[in-house]
Amino acid sequence: MTAHKPSRRPRSATPARPAAEPRLIDLTAPVEDYLKAIYDIELGDRAAATNDIAHRLQIAPASVSGMVRRLAEQGLLAYERYKGVRLTDAGRRAALRTIRRHRVIEAYLVKALGYPWDQVHTEAERLEHAASDELIDRMAAAIGEPLTDPHGAPIPTRDGVIDETPHSALADVASGAAARIVRVGDENDEMLRYLDSLGIRPGVRVTVGDRAPFDGPISVRVGPVQHQIGHALAAKILVESD
Ligand SMILES: [Zn+2]
Repeated sequence: MTAHKPSRRPRSATPARPAAEPRLIDLTAPVEDYLKAIYDIELGDRAAATNDIAHRLQIAPASVSGMVRRLAEQGLLAYERYKGVRLTDAGRRAALRTIRRHRVIEAYLVKALGYPWDQVHTEAERLEHAASDELIDRMAAAIGEPLTDPHGAPIPTRDGVIDETPHSALADVASGAAARIVRVGDENDEMLRYLDSLGIRPGVRVTVGDRAPFDGPISVRVGPVQHQIGHALAAKILVESD
């Protein structure tokens, strides 16, 4: 019988993890939703204020402060004075892990199971907290490791690498210019069905025609058909110049 002897590797080879590093496996669904929301807010290159988080999660600002404090204590968030919070490296890793699960699930439901793109977000919102990383990796492999979800959002790799290239909105494209649709919002089923009926989805090329002043409708040609799209809707459609 050999006594259990903890083996120690030299410190130089394996730097010790900071004590505050949380075990990501233990995160609850609400925690994952907070981290995802803060990640989204930070994409706008700013710290997440309590009100931003409350607005995104559709909860009262008063209930946000306590959770934010707990997440900071766990080393997932860091306070930025007078501005709000930002994800720490550990918080960002956890957020991207949940985002990967969400987007792989959406892609799998569409590609492997034939779901329409307006019926996958709600399922993914639930399953993203339950699926194991192994299941997600297998789902991604089964559909050829897609780079984006059905709405055009980039899928982080399992190592947490994600394409964060900012894109302009269709609402900001000049009259006469052509653009390629990159991504549309995924949270409004009705909007997705409407966009689908117009033939607007990622990869499609469009040309912007007349733009009414004062945020009025924008004329957009998709293939041979000319559509009038409201300014608010056009603001939710991301494009790259073509
Ligand atoms: Zn979604």
